[in-house]
Amino acid sequence: MHKRSQFGVFLGVAGALFLSLGVTAQAQIPEPNVTNPDRIMPYPPVRVIGNLYYVGTRDLASFLITTDEGHILINSGYASSVPMIRDSIEALGFDIEDIEIITTAHAHNDHVGGLAELKHLSGAETHMHGGDVPILISGGDDDYRYPGGRGLLFEPIAVDHMINDGDTIELGSTVLTVHLHAGHTKGAISFSMEVEEGGRSYDVLLANMGTVNDTVNLTYMPGYPEIVADYEKTFADQKAMNPDIWLASHAGQFNMHDKYQPGMAYSPNNFLDPEGWHSKVADYEAAFRARIISDADKPRD
Ligand SMILES: [Zn+2]
Repeated sequence: MHKRSQFGVFLGVAGALFLSLGVTAQAQIPEPNVTNPDRIMPYPPVRVIGNLYYVGTRDLASFLITTDEGHILINSGYASSVPMIRDSIEALGFDIEDIEIITTAHAHNDHVGGLAELKHLSGAETHMHGGDVPILISGGDDDYRYPGGRGLLFEPIAVDHMINDGDTIELGSTVLTVHLHAGHTKGAISFSMEVEEGGRSYDVLLANMGTVNDTVNLTYMPGYPEIVADYEKTFADQKAMNPDIWLASHAGQFNMHDKYQPGMAYSPNNFLDPEGWHSKVADYEAAFRARIISDADKPRD
């Protein structure tokens, strides 16, 4: 699991960058332009299945996976949502200081903006895919969509451990398997786990869906020449998966509000949706293929 040594030199440079940015970072970070109010709207925590909980806002998913040897947190929402996430974790009866591992599905501000603070609060170690390390340690500045740099968007996040496709993150009795589902970012990843509940076993997937940001041109992306090939591999891989329960980084992506309303009694079957997975992946693949055609008409530079 720990791939630190081979990246030692790189992380050394990263660490220096992190320190030099850290001093003045707070004053320079602009307020994010949040166009969808659901992204910052508080939402009560949800027990999804077994030891997997949703502790995010109404739209931005943060997942807490609890074990008797500490917890795993995936995604943060924007920095302003950290107090709400903390309240949700405490309302469930867990302690933020017991978070041992922090990771994310992909390094965009709406999913990692609060991770630096959550790392400080918990003392957790971050486990990130190498493809997203530059964007994480630069606070969003080093982004393939913006060749000249984007400027600081969020507090830079120190990376403690590299994770790669097929690696596992193990804590207590939980085993999370990492799946590289790149395209949306270079290091976008999904996580799969098996959950035993009520006498049966469920295949659970926390998916990074293959959506394409408006600012991307799939036919001309000098900062990410492999982008189309990476999306193709992601869709091929996702079509071959058969999760019983699947969730994603936006509630809207996995139709959470159709499956669950606050106050519903817990059942391991609340989020059961094996067919929905295949139709959602097909929808995103169709949108991706339409974008390849329409992006060809976009001006270049
Ligand atoms: Zn994104």
